[in-house]
Amino acid sequence: MWRGGFVDCHCHLSARDFQEDVEEVIEQAKQSGVAAIVAVAEYSEEFERIIELSNRYHGFVMPCLGVHPVQGLPPQDQRGATLQVMGGGCCEVLTHLSVLYL
Ligand SMILES: [Zn+2]
Repeated sequence: MWRGGFVDCHCHLSARDFQEDVEEVIEQAKQSGVAAIVAVAEYSEEFERIIELSNRYHGFVMPCLGVHPVQGLPPQDQRGATLQVMGGGCCEVLTHLSVLYL
């Protein structure tokens, strides 16, 4: 049930910057009125960490699995995610999510 509040709709919680203090970051977000965080990935290697965080903070950390276009390239060379970029773990992640949210 939605209780209202702010939603951080693009948060890189799976980044290495938060490995040491993710619990503190989440607690501070909650105390600041954040009701939910959408955890996004830059690389498919982050999917497992995002799933782990969404399990640990169920109902607060919402997984958003995708990858950024290749960064640092001119616009004509940038691209969206392909199945190759998403990696072989994609089906495993979708199966896991369907158990959690369907
Ligand atoms: Zn981003």
